[in-house]
Amino acid sequence: MERISWDQYFMAQSHLLALRSTCTRLAVGATIVRDKRIIAGGYNGSIAGGVHCADEGCYMVDGHCIRTIHAEMNAILQCAKFGVPTEGAEIYVTHFPCIQCCKSIIQAGIKTIYYAKDYKNHPYAVELFDQASVKVEQVELDEMIIDLKNQEKLAFVADLIKQLADKGLEEEEIRKIHEEANKLFTSYV
Ligand SMILES: [Zn+2]
Ligand SMILES: [Zn+2]
Repeated sequence: MERISWDQYFMAQSHLLALRSTCTRLAVGATIVRDKRIIAGGYNGSIAGGVHCADEGCYMVDGHCIRTIHAEMNAILQCAKFGVPTEGAEIYVTHFPCIQCCKSIIQAGIKTIYYAKDYKNHPYAVELFDQASVKVEQVELDEMIIDLKNQEKLAFVADLIKQLADKGLEEEEIRKIHEEANKLFTSYV
């Protein structure tokens, strides 16, 4: 059995955190890492004890929900709260950071950003990261790694396809089903 890479491990952690998001607009997770250790994590949500967008609806101003603190900010603020240095750290985020988070990340001394999904990718954020020599790299999450039943599912579907072929389903049809299954079961990293 293959071990998952550190990148995949930390990116999976950010995706788990995103599941805790309370804003219905976008679920984001962020994990701050130093020396291959998780030092903080965050998701986008209201301030502690505040009402949740998921319950009350988003508080929209100028096209943005102003109730929530972004995942990256929450992770950085967790470090501030507990006095954990972020200088030279790395951050794993589910989505490309917005311009506000971009500036905070740079100012916190974080030197590497791994993001899974493109999200607006503001050109000014790209420019600032470049200016600050922050390394930005896309690391897509291989969703298979958090599906513990992946191998069983794969075997089951392969067996079903084989049975369909044995029952004499047209080759063209089999090929299409096979393609669909491949799309679902093949990792892209
Ligand atoms: Zn919201
Ligand atoms: Zn942000």
